[in-house]
Amino acid sequence: MLMNLREILHLAEEKKMAIGSFNVYNVESVQAVMTAAHNTQSPAIVAFGESYDKHMPLEAMAMLFRYYADKSDLPLVLHLDHSKKLETVYRALKAGFTSIMFDGSAKPLAENIQQSHYVADIAHGMGASVEGELGYMNPEDGTPAAAGEQGSFTSVEDAHKYSRDSGVDALAIAIGNAHGIYKGEPRLDFNQLEAIEREVNIPLVLHGSSGIPDAMLRKAISLGIRKININTEVSTTGIRAAREFLAGHTDANTRFEAMTKAAEDQMTAVVEQYMDLFKNK
Ligand SMILES: [Zn+2]
Repeated sequence: MLMNLREILHLAEEKKMAIGSFNVYNVESVQAVMTAAHNTQSPAIVAFGESYDKHMPLEAMAMLFRYYADKSDLPLVLHLDHSKKLETVYRALKAGFTSIMFDGSAKPLAENIQQSHYVADIAHGMGASVEGELGYMNPEDGTPAAAGEQGSFTSVEDAHKYSRDSGVDALAIAIGNAHGIYKGEPRLDFNQLEAIEREVNIPLVLHGSSGIPDAMLRKAISLGIRKININTEVSTTGIRAAREFLAGHTDANTRFEAMTKAAEDQMTAVVEQYMDLFKNK
């Protein structure tokens, strides 16, 4: 059952759980998330990054995903992840995406609010929702933080202003989380999360959640995180499975689809673990 981000995060709030947002970039990653969702009877957000568009057109992903969504009774969202270009936003909405993440985090706050508002107006007009972002910048020069580096934290004041004025439906915050593989132990600032949660009246989102210990993710959920983005852990699992498969199948007749299926099966198992973790039980 395809719905928008606002609707699915409302379900998360009712159950005091988080909903996993898993990145998809091909049929195997989509099937891994859908199989895991059915095996665990979990809602799911399927996230296609703007940057994947050069590997597979987002329109093709929308058509592919709709096939699986039409056959499912589970709450599902088709989400555009980290979009920075309006052109991609328009294309995604036209193709049937029900959620857009507009990433204006590298812009000054006022500009981020203004552009997020514009995207929210258009998306809402088409029944879709919008996630905005604050943080992840290098404190020194304001450039986006590199993979594995946490960058600056989201300020409570900015989060309050942004959530009040931008019109978005969910807010991604930086409290020590980082994209990619962590350099060193991940540490989330729960005091900052609590302070932001008090000042913000829309659901909060945690990006870069691969590699964060389960206990920390559970605590983040108890303090109000309602969407948790997982990419690296699933992707590296698929790569590892493909490498292991190839190491054991060196003959010339090895089938490509047997390798991708081996990767998909391992990815499914990882997604299932996260889906179970995100349930408040
Ligand atoms: Zn992200």
